Amino acid sequence: MRKIIIIGSGPAGLTAAIYAARGNLNPLVIEGYQSGGQLMITSEVENYPGFRDGITGPDLMAEFRAQAERFGTEFITQDVTKVELAGEVKKIWVDDELHESQAVIISTGASANLLGLENESRLMGRGVSACATCDGFFFRGKAVCVVGGGDSAMEEANFLTRFASKVYLIHRRQGLRASKIMDERIRQNPKIELVLDTVVIDVLGSELVEGVRLKNVQTNKVWDLPLEGMFVAIGHTPNTKLFGGQLDMDSKGYIVTSTDKGHVTATSLPGVFACGDVQDSHYRQAITAAGSGCAAALDAQHYLESL
Ligand code: NAP
Repeated sequence: MRKIIIIGSGPAGLTAAIYAARGNLNPLVIEGYQSGGQLMITSEVENYPGFRDGITGPDLMAEFRAQAERFGTEFITQDVTKVELAGEVKKIWVDDELHESQAVIISTGASANLLGLENESRLMGRGVSACATCDGFFFRGKAVCVVGGGDSAMEEANFLTRFASKVYLIHRRQGLRASKIMDERIRQNPKIELVLDTVVIDVLGSELVEGVRLKNVQTNKVWDLPLEGMFVAIGHTPNTKLFGGQLDMDSKGYIVTSTDKGHVTATSLPGVFACGDVQDSHYRQAITAAGSGCAAALDAQHYLESL
């Protein structure tokens, strides 16, 4: 039986691992097939303190992982398939393999949302993408659009101007949700054209994306915009399916963590802690995720000492 198992390997999980390992708790991180979390599909990270010239998301996560490994963290690069978190012994399965621990830290993060259009899923990977960093390269000299009005959409649109000939930013309202600095950067970029008050109602093309059908929500005007790529950047859903029925969650599926016992990362079950985007629908930053990962490791350590 282990003292602690960490599920998930973004900034939250790996920070928890660094702290738990340095606290002699010999953590096991079940990092998942898509290890590293959302930063693995982020280009430049300019707001992580300590990197004044910026760093790419994958490079930053490689640093996190190496630091966790340096203090003895063990890793399993597979997905958790089942958990039983009630009771003093926490049970975690990776396929048929059972892992047991006294405490668990959940840091499974969140995943990109899609529009839910039939042709969006049919043309996924054929011009539809949720990751500009992964796929932007394929759109050299082509016209593309980004859907969304938050910081992610701004970041994707800016990044895509490195390759694309033209980037339409399609947002369902007049006002962008993004921070002022991102908003200004977008408006100053001559390759980006804002298409506001507008929604995508269909993705066009048989084998590859050939355009999007748009509707202005004020005038109800419908028109087709020819382009070869659609990047969806409309927010995220927490990865909490695995824990359904076992932990308290809010209406959007984020794990509820409490402040009442002085342990900000404590969940509704003793010995189970959650950190990062899986429990934070508000800040969702690498640095806040890392901070809550540190808190989760300290909370888990206090819990283990109290047993
Ligand atoms: P977000 O802030 O929640 O924005 C999602 C955007 O998608 C909103 O503009 C929303 O429209 C739109 N949207 C949602 N559902 C839609 C639908 N079905 N159809 C059309 N549009 C839809 O998400 P995010 O941009 O992923 O950012 C998440 C968090 O990460 C934020 O706190 C953000 O600041 C942060 N972030 C920071 C950076 C950075 O600082 N470098 C980079 C990326 C993200 P409405 O505005 O109308 O709701």
